[in-house]
Amino acid sequence: MPKPLALVTRSDAATEAVWKEALSDALPEETILSFRDMSAEQRAEAELAIVANPDPADVAELPNIQWIHSLWAGVERLVAELGPGAAPIVRLVDPELARVMAEAVLAWTYYLHRDMPAYRTNQQKAEWAPLDYRHPRDVTIGLLGLGELGKASAERLKGAGFNVIGWSRSSKTVDGVETMSGDDGFDRILGTSDILVCLMPLTAETRGLLDARRLKQMKPGAAIINFARGPIIVNADLIAALDAKHLSHAVLDVFAQEPLPAASPFWAHPSVTVLPHISGPTDRFTAAGIVAANIRQWRQTGQLPKTVDLKAGY
Ligand code: NDP
Repeated sequence: MPKPLALVTRSDAATEAVWKEALSDALPEETILSFRDMSAEQRAEAELAIVANPDPADVAELPNIQWIHSLWAGVERLVAELGPGAAPIVRLVDPELARVMAEAVLAWTYYLHRDMPAYRTNQQKAEWAPLDYRHPRDVTIGLLGLGELGKASAERLKGAGFNVIGWSRSSKTVDGVETMSGDDGFDRILGTSDILVCLMPLTAETRGLLDARRLKQMKPGAAIINFARGPIIVNADLIAALDAKHLSHAVLDVFAQEPLPAASPFWAHPSVTVLPHISGPTDRFTAAGIVAANIRQWRQTGQLPKTVDLKAGY
């Protein structure tokens, strides 16, 4: 009889129960227990934690776990809160998540490309003012991050005819995409993108990366889409760049504090579109299937899927 697996979340009991059901359906041979219902003995027995934004103090009460499977793709909080001594962490890599994120990137790229914010404003003023159409091949979309989500987004944007360029930490080859890395690459992507899409993890290197100096380097009139993590952009610097009309618009799905507080200047800013962290929702069923396959592989071979580099933070 395999030892139990602990499901640790910060969700309410009902949300956690839905996850538990999906995981138990995908892994009928395993005993998956909600951390909150586990006895001290069961906690000591647990071999693996399946987590969604857990309280690190809860994870610390599972002294014998060999690894942690995150149900989320972004693990910056887990890495920061569990610290360098954490058990190996596996994050969610799900083609369905990449598909849905790429769809969102294309949707909000079109929103900016076809000037929807400007037409909305004009309608409010009863103003009939056609703007010039630009062919997608003449519009450069820059992707910051060419990982699972960035690559899928690049494919989708290319399919729609945009000129796509991308920047990553290590050099990458993506068919039909001009790729770059390093400081020179960063200068270039900032200076040439009409729409800059952020799909990088939040790490020590990326926190506050898009500050006043970097935003100034962006092409005048460019727009920005942040679907990654809020603290990658310095809020006050972004607002200053929008107020100065150096940047035309920002579509923000992620924030340092979520839900976005009512007092945030982003809510009422005419050049900001606020989204409530909806660009890449996890599909419970595909995610449960992927977690199940990873756990089965580990049971059968002892092999873990690719784990998070705790030093790099992603
Ligand atoms: P990956 O780890 O697959 O890819 C991350 C990419 O960012 C890689 O190309 C990596 O470079 C690059 N990168 C990391 N650090 C740097 C740096 N310092 N400078 C330049 N490039 C860097 O992550 P995913 O694509 O799966 O996810 C990206 C992020 O999206 C997640 O971390 C999460 O925060 C966010 N997310 C948001 C969701 C939402 O609903 N809004 C949903 C899911 C995820 P390299 O290739 O060289 O490693």
